[in-house]
Amino acid sequence: MTETWRLGRGHSPIKGGVLTLAFVALFLVHWQVSVFLQTFFLHRYGAHRQFTMSKGWEKTFHLLTFLVQGPSYLNPRAYAILHRMHHAFSDTPQDPHSPTHQPNFFKMMWRTKLQYEDVKYRRVPIEPRFDGGYPEWPLLDEKLSNMTIAVGWGALWALFYLGFAPHWWLLAFLPFHWLMGPVHGAIVNWAGHEIGYRNFDSDDNSKNTLVFDVLTMGELFQNNHHKWGQSPNFAVRAFEIDPAYQIMRMFGALRIIDMSGAQKSRWEPREARTTRAGAAAVPPALALPAPQDGP
Ligand SMILES: [Zn+2]
Ligand SMILES: [Zn+2]
Repeated sequence: MTETWRLGRGHSPIKGGVLTLAFVALFLVHWQVSVFLQTFFLHRYGAHRQFTMSKGWEKTFHLLTFLVQGPSYLNPRAYAILHRMHHAFSDTPQDPHSPTHQPNFFKMMWRTKLQYEDVKYRRVPIEPRFDGGYPEWPLLDEKLSNMTIAVGWGALWALFYLGFAPHWWLLAFLPFHWLMGPVHGAIVNWAGHEIGYRNFDSDDNSKNTLVFDVLTMGELFQNNHHKWGQSPNFAVRAFEIDPAYQIMRMFGALRIIDMSGAQKSRWEPREARTTRAGAAAVPPALALPAPQDGP
């Protein structure tokens, strides 16, 4: 490293421009790979077991998640337990992260953090129905997952930026590199239950925020996912695209994962559902009150 590569000093506009683009690309790639591993490995595999993979591939993705999330690596056991509680108690006071039961975004995330740490450090009893069946690797999840190591990871990111970034404003990316896991969780937990449209009626407030989820690799189809919790595909309508599922289809074709026994999500217009429910509930020969709207 020479003096010319330090922040905002000394290098030509072309070199500086290329380097700036490289840092923006690094940020975008880190964001996408990190959120893919969160949705694919921690969520769809670890918490839901929507598909299977060999022990070797499980270890590979576990290690990748540890390396890519780095300072904000999410413990798969704690993630799975909290997430299963989220499904069971969605948007009720027992939900670990419901925007409808918290006064603001920061309070919601703080409460989630406290609950996550209680589960991670085994300070609270866990209901048996939420426990077990998640990936475990004590070396990564316990021995190498502590504040000292997180600070070390964070310092490496900071040194890299301070050493090579051509502009000070690029340092704004640093907190995201440090906190990638919780940042993605926060976006999904807040927006996915607060902003968007609904394909399915339900007791909770889950929403589909984007039709092509470029931000969180499919996680923002919360309304679809709460309806079809065991389906690896979070998109259900023709215009919806779940990017992680497209990558998972490729993994399936390469036999890295097996989705052959997975639940298949589907959608049909509300009128069709109503008609079907009505037809089933009310035989035409009987003069009963008008059928209720189906689920
Ligand atoms: Zn949800
Ligand atoms: Zn889920």
